[in-house]
Amino acid sequence: MTQKDTKAPLYPKSHILAASGVAALLSLALLVFPSREVEAKKPFIHPEMESASSQIEKTDDQEPEPPSIDAAALPFAMLESSMDRQPVTTEQSTEQSSQQTGRDAPPATVATAPSAPASPKVVTAGKGDTLSTVFAKAGVPASTLQEVLGSSKEAAKQLGHIKAGQKFEFTFAANGELQALHAKLDKLKTIEIRKSAQGFSVKHETVKPEMRTVYARGVIDSSLFPAAKKAGLSHSMALTLSNIFAYDIDFAQDIRRGDEFEVIYEEKRLGSKRLQQGNILAARFVNRGKTYTAVRYTNKQGATNYYTADGNSMRKAFIRTPVDFARISSRFSNGRRHPILNKIRAHKGVDYAAPRGTPIRATGDGKVKLAGRKGGYGNTVIIQHGNRQQTLYAHMQGFAKGVRTGSTVKQGQIIGYIGTTGLSTGPHLHYEFQINGVHVDPLSQKLRMADPIVRGEKQRFLQQTQSLMARMNQEKATMLAMDKR
Ligand SMILES: [Zn+2]
Repeated sequence: MTQKDTKAPLYPKSHILAASGVAALLSLALLVFPSREVEAKKPFIHPEMESASSQIEKTDDQEPEPPSIDAAALPFAMLESSMDRQPVTTEQSTEQSSQQTGRDAPPATVATAPSAPASPKVVTAGKGDTLSTVFAKAGVPASTLQEVLGSSKEAAKQLGHIKAGQKFEFTFAANGELQALHAKLDKLKTIEIRKSAQGFSVKHETVKPEMRTVYARGVIDSSLFPAAKKAGLSHSMALTLSNIFAYDIDFAQDIRRGDEFEVIYEEKRLGSKRLQQGNILAARFVNRGKTYTAVRYTNKQGATNYYTADGNSMRKAFIRTPVDFARISSRFSNGRRHPILNKIRAHKGVDYAAPRGTPIRATGDGKVKLAGRKGGYGNTVIIQHGNRQQTLYAHMQGFAKGVRTGSTVKQGQIIGYIGTTGLSTGPHLHYEFQINGVHVDPLSQKLRMADPIVRGEKQRFLQQTQSLMARMNQEKATMLAMDKR
């Protein structure tokens, strides 16, 4: 969605009041109406413009207080979003309004113009700009700048080093003197300097982003990522979702068309702007007709994990696959013809084909027994998990930082990258799983469960998680009902 859609040609000239700057009206109109509404009704923007302008007309009649001051009193974050949408910079709009007063506007309007306030002037700092050049661009004399800087140490400090792209909004009194200055320091911080009887006073404002929870649902057509994107989830959210279910679902092999997912996740917003997607609080995945649930829970000790809705841990001793979203190119077998040696040989592991450099993860916590070359295996990592189990990862291009013989690794930690070292026909991972020294098929293993919710916390757990599951059911029902209409 481009911001430019609200460009000037959308509203006919008759709607322009010409009394004060077009920009002031437009920004006020956008302030009056939440930007989301504006976005949604973009093609029909002018009825809103009309009502907004008539409001302004009234205010103008009743009191001389300029509308731009009202706008200036609003939180800068709101102002900012209106400025983003504003198709023209103030320099241009000032020009435009003077043109309009000169050419198009009726004489009556010209008469009211001098008593009307000047529109706020927005200067966006460019590369190499300093506060004095910004003030100069706004037409503010250097003496006023000195007065502003002298008014408070804090102002001097905050405005001392300005960055390119920062916006400064100057508001002037009818006599042309600087009345207020707004500057946006970063996404959340603004500074406001306002003229009072005692000189300039400084106010800081830090906008707290609003945290809310959002529900999303998607049905898979081919794979998880496009469906997640369609449901509004970021790429990293989709990855997190797949990691949550990684113990139960093999996202490379098990996903079928028609599988569906639901998530309730945290989102940070600022006004209508989405700043960041946060934690997944609850999720549900239907894979080949089987439903899996996951809820995020922080126990009394402060440890956070995902559990099934009835309180079992999602985490298991081993994750199902050491490479995310790889294709299985060869399965475990007790006898097959080796492609290079051309002999019947057992394939005592599973091969995952993936592009060179794709990360390989340790499937369980353990100690690195070997990180080095091992004959036909090429670059190999062997991890010992407890006394009984061992995993092996072969043909790696290289090892991850910190992974060496004797080091310990965590489940899911990247240990190396897909390559084709040793006896190998192309980039892939050869993965082996041993129990008590015997090779087993890792894909057939029943995975061991980690600790469930302790009995003493079960009540607390259910209290927190049942409402999430209830909301998920309710949101899904609403969404399906909407789909049917
Ligand atoms: Zn292999």
